[in-house]
Amino acid sequence: MPHSCVDHPSMRAAAACGQCGHLFCADCLVYPFGESRPPMCVGCALAAAGVRKKKSSRPKLRRSAAKSRQATFAAETEQAAAAAAQDAARLEAEAAEAALQPTEDELWLSGADDDVPGAWRQVF
Ligand SMILES: [Zn+2]
Ligand SMILES: [Zn+2]
Repeated sequence: MPHSCVDHPSMRAAAACGQCGHLFCADCLVYPFGESRPPMCVGCALAAAGVRKKKSSRPKLRRSAAKSRQATFAAETEQAAAAAAQDAARLEAEAAEAALQPTEDELWLSGADDDVPGAWRQVF
């Protein structure tokens, strides 16, 4: 599965920004130092040019962090899916339990069947 641009999930990443380490598509990358040098994302290029951005730029990723990012993301996705499955199972169990619980009417009716009608009122 190809990596995708962090700004355009549907776009295949062309390269990682030499500054922040995030993956970007060709549209998001600029080559301020020429094609032979690492590209920069538009955000980092603007920051490097001294242009202040309203939006704070993404935090830089250390090389190891960038590497482990994909693995962490995959693990978290898996955990979330497992948690969702557990939730669904728990809700299903609760619903099944609730279905087994007799309603108040049913309790009253069963009580009326067991005893002489009205006997439950005779509390001494
Ligand atoms: Zn960047
Ligand atoms: Zn992009």
